[in-house]
Amino acid sequence: MNDAVARLEQVRDNIASAEREAGRASGAVTLVAVSKTFDSDAIAPVIEAGQRVFGENRVQEAQGKWPALKAAHADIELHLIGPLQSNKAKEAVALFDVIETVDREKIAAELAKEIARQGKAPRLYVQVNTGSEPQKAGVDPREATAFVNRCRDMHGLAIEGLMCIPPVDENPGPHFALLEKLAREAGLEKLSMGMSSDYELAIAFGATSVRVGSAIFGAR
Ligand SMILES: *Cc1c(COP(=O)(O)O)cnc(C)c1O
Repeated sequence: MNDAVARLEQVRDNIASAEREAGRASGAVTLVAVSKTFDSDAIAPVIEAGQRVFGENRVQEAQGKWPALKAAHADIELHLIGPLQSNKAKEAVALFDVIETVDREKIAAELAKEIARQGKAPRLYVQVNTGSEPQKAGVDPREATAFVNRCRDMHGLAIEGLMCIPPVDENPGPHFALLEKLAREAGLEKLSMGMSSDYELAIAFGATSVRVGSAIFGAR
């Protein structure tokens, strides 16, 4: 068996166990396989093994490989999990099914414009900078609810959930707990949190999707 496919099956088993241990329904958590830096040849076996939800963090890189893969597999769901520049909103709306990194007014406005123009509406998440790290994308946790409301009221955007990337050098648990609390306060049901090193913990804190790259595709 292909290495990535073997690791994919291990990750699926771990997700199923984490769901059981957390008292969550089987299948409650969606696995987003993060394929950034890997080419179509590396991704193809993982698609063949039945994985359908993928994440990429750069619009331009995704444009180089996903149009052909999506044409061959109509049920693929592609998530943008990296920062979105407003001059890439057009391409992002055209290619992605879910955009997880809405984090400022200008992006919200550009997305609204492109959604209207293209008649195609990706599902949207707001990224929250739970650690308030100066270099990191995402809205400040104190602004999250107000920003979600502005996306809806001023831009007509339906936000489905929240996403976070905890600081690398901290225990992620409190960050997952904070994101869950903010989503509850904002009335949102989806929580994108947890990566290769901590997806099982994220599931215990209520993640509805986990973004797993290196644990499937190998080191980058
Ligand atoms: C790369 C990336 C991941 C996956 O990271 P791994 O540690 O390889 O699982 C998840 N989320 C975001 C936003 C990423 O950029």
